[in-house]
Amino acid sequence: MSMEGRTCVITGSARGIGRGIAEHLGAKGANVVVNYRSSEEAALEAADAIETAGGNAVTAQADVAVREEVEHMREICHEAFGSADVLVNNAGITADDQFTEMTREEWDRVMDVNLGGMFNCTQEFYDDIWNADEGRLINISSVVGKQGNFGQANYAAAKSGMFGFTRTIALEFAQGGSTANCVAPGFTRTDMVENVPEKVLDRIVAGIPLERLAEVEDIAAVVRFLASEESSYVTGEVIDVNGGMDL
Ligand code: NAP
Repeated sequence: MSMEGRTCVITGSARGIGRGIAEHLGAKGANVVVNYRSSEEAALEAADAIETAGGNAVTAQADVAVREEVEHMREICHEAFGSADVLVNNAGITADDQFTEMTREEWDRVMDVNLGGMFNCTQEFYDDIWNADEGRLINISSVVGKQGNFGQANYAAAKSGMFGFTRTIALEFAQGGSTANCVAPGFTRTDMVENVPEKVLDRIVAGIPLERLAEVEDIAAVVRFLASEESSYVTGEVIDVNGGMDL
């Protein structure tokens, strides 16, 4: 599954799942655009790690919720590597509250980054992916988009919104031979779950048939397959990577 010569833009890839994806693709020889919003130092470290592993990397600061910044990220990508073959919409946030307490601001913030960011990035890189040989759009959703989760009405709505979006773009892209898929991770050991009390995590693990949380590598390995030319007949799918949570 060599990624040599393929240019991959991964949003939110200075840390967490995005970082794992960036390093996996980089280790297979990809040209990687490491996007960050605020974690500049971590982004530079990620770029170094990719180059050491044999890939090429450039960092691009952009808040995915701000269209002009995403446009600038596309310019950085084009200048460094030319047009993109793969876009991974990974950047995401939570702003949890029981629904009666949830503010409109918390709702909008989650929509702006998780769905608005996906809109901005997909539109900016649409022509690149359409015209690429084996172009790939990969959206990182969540098991929460399927199952819901207490206190996450905003996040669950955004993450299930990604499913319909992905299927629609898959239909549009199909005419040009590119694909669009979602990956729906289960609970994964990153900063995002760091504030979840250990007791709650234990309860979550008790409900996972494989009896552990996901590691970023578990998610990155599936994304790497989808990003490769070997997944060319898979499109419009939601691939669950959740240790069997919905069995
Ligand atoms: P994380 O550790 O909190 O990292 C989030 C990443 O997103 C950071 O790199 C952050 O960049 C970036 N980001 C946030 N807002 C951004 C914005 N407006 N513009 C650009 N980048 C932005 O999260 P994670 O656990 O790796 O999650 C990655 C994705 O997987 C998210 O979409 C999340 O919803 C999804 N997911 C996570 C889990 C889980 O259990 N961890 C489960 C299912 C799905 P900066 O640091 O530069 O701000």
